[in-house]
Amino acid sequence: MSNLRFKVVEEAFKKRPVEVPAPSERPSEYFAKYVFNQEKMFRYLPLSTYRKLREVIEKGTPLPMSVADEVAKGMKQWAIDMGVTHCTHWFQPLTEGTAEKHDAFVEHDWKGGMVENFSGKELVQQEPDASSFPNGGIRSTFEARGYSAWDPASPVFIIGDTLMIPTVFISYTGEALDYKAPLKKALAAIDKAATAVCHYFDPEVKKVSANLGWEQEYFLVDEGLYAARPDLLLTGRTLMGHESSKNQQMDDHYFGAIPERVAEFMRDLEIQALELGIPCKTRHNEVAPNQFELAPIFEECNLAVDHNMLVMSLMRNIARKHGFRCLLHEKPFAGINGSGKHNNWSLTTDNGCLLHAPGKTPEDNLRFITFVVETLVGVFRHNGLLKASIVSATNAHRLGANEAPPAIISSFLGSQVSELLDIVENSTKEELFTLEGKHSVQLDIPQIPELMIDNTDRNRTSPFAFTGNRFEFRAVGSIANCASAMIALNTAVAEALTDFKTRVDALIEKGESKISAILDILREDIKTCKPIRFDGNGYSDEWKTEALRRGLDCETSTPLIYDRYLDPSSIGMFENMKVMKRHELEARNEIKWETYYKKIQIESRVLGDLCMNHIIPVATKYQSELVDNVHKIQLAFSDPKQVKALTAYNIDLIEKINKHTSFIAENVDAMVEKRREVNRIEDVRTLAIAYHDEVAPYLDSIRYHIDKLELIVEDEMWTLPKYRELLFIR
Ligand code: ADP
Ligand code: MG
Repeated sequence: MSNLRFKVVEEAFKKRPVEVPAPSERPSEYFAKYVFNQEKMFRYLPLSTYRKLREVIEKGTPLPMSVADEVAKGMKQWAIDMGVTHCTHWFQPLTEGTAEKHDAFVEHDWKGGMVENFSGKELVQQEPDASSFPNGGIRSTFEARGYSAWDPASPVFIIGDTLMIPTVFISYTGEALDYKAPLKKALAAIDKAATAVCHYFDPEVKKVSANLGWEQEYFLVDEGLYAARPDLLLTGRTLMGHESSKNQQMDDHYFGAIPERVAEFMRDLEIQALELGIPCKTRHNEVAPNQFELAPIFEECNLAVDHNMLVMSLMRNIARKHGFRCLLHEKPFAGINGSGKHNNWSLTTDNGCLLHAPGKTPEDNLRFITFVVETLVGVFRHNGLLKASIVSATNAHRLGANEAPPAIISSFLGSQVSELLDIVENSTKEELFTLEGKHSVQLDIPQIPELMIDNTDRNRTSPFAFTGNRFEFRAVGSIANCASAMIALNTAVAEALTDFKTRVDALIEKGESKISAILDILREDIKTCKPIRFDGNGYSDEWKTEALRRGLDCETSTPLIYDRYLDPSSIGMFENMKVMKRHELEARNEIKWETYYKKIQIESRVLGDLCMNHIIPVATKYQSELVDNVHKIQLAFSDPKQVKALTAYNIDLIEKINKHTSFIAENVDAMVEKRREVNRIEDVRTLAIAYHDEVAPYLDSIRYHIDKLELIVEDEMWTLPKYRELLFIR
């Protein structure tokens, strides 16, 4: 049985890079080759239709059916020119990944033949069966139908022979069954709230967009080795495996050259991503062995989310072509870093960036302070909810370990911005600004005009760090849909800005000048959000104590963290900002709890099977070899003293093996029994809590003994590829 492992390792070592031919054009030429972007719209649509579609995209107004028909006609022509035969609505249900339902372009011509057809209605709307996707009970009320509807803000694209149409996915009664629908509402909310606040500083601003630049981390493992690890295959992570003697302690992977097989994979991935209009920019090794990162240039948030979903599916597919499996799980290997997905977030108007300092004028700087402070207010008020937006059964392994942002949301601003806020907070009105004349206001805020935000002033332990012109939300999981975090963040900031404006307006109404009113409210808010500001070491135990004292959410149990979605403050926020209603939030939480417990349930089953079918048989077999040896020594030697000396080592091993296998066998039984017991719980939240509190701990305690056995049992007998093989194969 050992042969299988040695064979796959040998095969993996022999593999050569799959060479990817260089494209004949430069990236700028093949960029967005498979996207119906502005340029193609212009080429394939009548001018009036093109203009109407641009307006729909820019203003977010509904698309009239007459225009949709014209758009569909042009799109179909482009698609047929590209050799496309099918189309699908492409949507993001509340699972990991995306879903699609393909239809051919053809229809009867009613003369015995077929014609290629694609109508505006097919472009705009489809009816996938909602009952095949998680919906948290929304559907069972009375209607199983779900609708997918085109999102014109995200351009259609081609994969293989299929035209992919990005859509929202909603129920018959209008509830969101996906990530895109609430994301678009959250983006509309922040647009409205931020534009209104911008008008204090610049009445010309028409629109504020949220941007997202994600950095996607991932692992690659050889496909053959992956296939020989049932735990990786079925759960996405290794449920056992002793640390390799060498892992990331030398930091040599991070700075090292990219192995050739991986480099070819990356080239392939980048070319295909660029062809799909994803502006890939950086690629590099990450901290852990076999860990890598891809980051594009940031884009408008909705589009960036689509592109991230697309990249994750490209990664998975292209990896297989190169004989790899791409692992997007947050913690595939114990003892080394896991993978995250930093979400770089910023706001821009139609004429500038809102989080960029220094500005050209004092007004610009006041605007900068306003947006930084109100972002902090939103994050402070909803810190528990923001955490809820990023936790999952898989990401929980990463949060709280000393490698990723801790399970407490705080914000690092860097010394310069911190000092700036302190100055605003502590100065009197007179010190801060002087009024000159009736209309022109001169701000005299010390230091602001000279402010140079230092990009290198960084704190890697902060989950929400200011990095010069953006905030970086680092706690997002590598496999997550970024929309979850972006919905929570944008809505929280939209609420803070709305509230800010109401209070400023009230002061203005009372006769205060605009600038004075803004500064008054800012001073108040700087005080309010102070507990969220933390520039120290987020991994330290002192911070945990301190955060608790400050009233920040310190809960670490995933199913309990999900409760934050149903806090009155969260429901109020989502409803007031018109992003989601209470029953949508309730339904989505049902799905979260269900997904959580099912993941742990699967892991627990897989571990149980592996213990009984692999670990215990292998350990027992080795143990009987040792027993055999002891027995033979006893036969060969007659002096008891000599026998004792010669068998002592093996007898000790036999006993150790016995200790570990007994523990494993007993605890697997207990774990199965515990599952049986908790599975009777009907309420899904209680069930998820029971899985967290009572089942999950077995995974760790059993694993400990398996990993000890891995060290004891003869290498040749061990059936499962080891960490050193999974992580160091090129
Ligand atoms: P790091 O040093 O954090 O690894 P980079 O400087 O390479 O990362 O940038 C990371 C990401 O931040 C990229 O996706 C980049 O496009 C994005 N980014 C840069 N500026 C902004 C911004 N103003 N808004 C949003 N994202 C941004
Ligand atoms: Mg970063």
